[in-house]
Amino acid sequence: MANELVLVIEDNHMNAKLLRDVLQAQGYEVAESTNAEEGLELARARLPALILMDIQLPGMNGDQALRELKRDPSTAAIPVIAVTASVMPMERNQILEAGFDGFQGKPISVKELINEVTSLIGGGGKPSGGAGEY
Ligand code: MN
Repeated sequence: MANELVLVIEDNHMNAKLLRDVLQAQGYEVAESTNAEEGLELARARLPALILMDIQLPGMNGDQALRELKRDPSTAAIPVIAVTASVMPMERNQILEAGFDGFQGKPISVKELINEVTSLIGGGGKPSGGAGEY
């Protein structure tokens, strides 16, 4: 499943860059939006394998956008990982109960991010194992 498309919806440019760099380094293709409204349009048009969704966004927030995605049969099956500064265990439970398929706290842990993404959609096509890997 090389070059799977991941949609990043994140209004913080530093976080968006980190997510993009990590995902591209793993071999994923990345589409980006800085707001939920445009992100929903991209999701419907391109049907990504996975969405990374910031919760705090200008305009529609990530919770609302998740509900829109789950309500639309064309996007309902796409896994969505919440990305938020929230760190409390209670908040984590609320995020999962809201219907998100995973959770990444800010600041982003590259290792945890890669683990969660690959567990949901498999690797991004980065060559792994074998004699070619240093
Ligand atoms: Mn934000």
